[in-house]
Amino acid sequence: SLVYLNGDYMPPEQAKISPMDRGFLFGDGIYEVVPAYHGKMLGFDAHIQRMQSGLAAIDIELDYTAQQWRQICDTLIAKNPGPNQGIYLHVSRGADSKRNHAYPQGITPTVFAFCFELPGEPVCDPELATSYHVSLEQDKRWQRCNIKSTALLGNVMHYQSGAAAGNKETILFNSDEQITEASSSNVFIVKDGVISTPPLDHQILPGITRWLILTILAEHSDFAVQQRVISKAELLNADEVWITSATKEVGPVVKVADQVIGSGQPGPVWQQVQSLFSQHKFDY
Ligand code: PMP
Repeated sequence: SLVYLNGDYMPPEQAKISPMDRGFLFGDGIYEVVPAYHGKMLGFDAHIQRMQSGLAAIDIELDYTAQQWRQICDTLIAKNPGPNQGIYLHVSRGADSKRNHAYPQGITPTVFAFCFELPGEPVCDPELATSYHVSLEQDKRWQRCNIKSTALLGNVMHYQSGAAAGNKETILFNSDEQITEASSSNVFIVKDGVISTPPLDHQILPGITRWLILTILAEHSDFAVQQRVISKAELLNADEVWITSATKEVGPVVKVADQVIGSGQPGPVWQQVQSLFSQHKFDY
């Protein structure tokens, strides 16, 4: 397999980055994950746009165009095995001679990308779908969760405490007991046929899958959809709960902490929405 580093493709063991890189010392960088099935990327423009806004938000100047990113991704897809791949893109502020907190001037960003094999495309069959048991915890991350920062220790710790409890994700609520997102996914609930998800603000990442779901539902369904504050109590009493991300697509949650959700099986609205998602996901 080959990875991309600062303009070149090479085997991963030849990719060398300075320990003075601010990505290593401070987690000072922005990343993306783009899924590709049979060579076709999903939500590519939206992923690149989100990365470019993240870079602008932390004043990293990088002159890669969307076209250049596309070429890097296409090359990596072609040079790596497996029909289904996730492409990880990472830009850090770069290496400096000193360790100062202030952004140094005149250093060159480090650009790194690699592929990892995805098991396959998520399916809408409740018998075959991956369903999720999740933990529920107070969100202890920072107040700029809309930036897709490589500094993921908060997310990692939330995910890990879910894993220690035997769960595959952790849903988070703020100090007002309002649901924010999960450690690596956005959250949706269904109650009485109405689909709801928390509004975009500094507390959550603007997920590309979230955006795709909202767009596909608006253009191809009659479902009532709301972007609104969701309380912890509403989550626990929902008919369905989903977690969404580029690699999970619409992931049905059947248990939150000790609370069984709905029938304890992936729900009927999930099935319709994952099916609509599969039909239309490459249109955008
Ligand atoms: N929230 C967080 C904290 C994430 O890390 C992710 C992505 N892994 C998401 C939401 C979902 O975003 P996307 O749909 O763009 O993968």
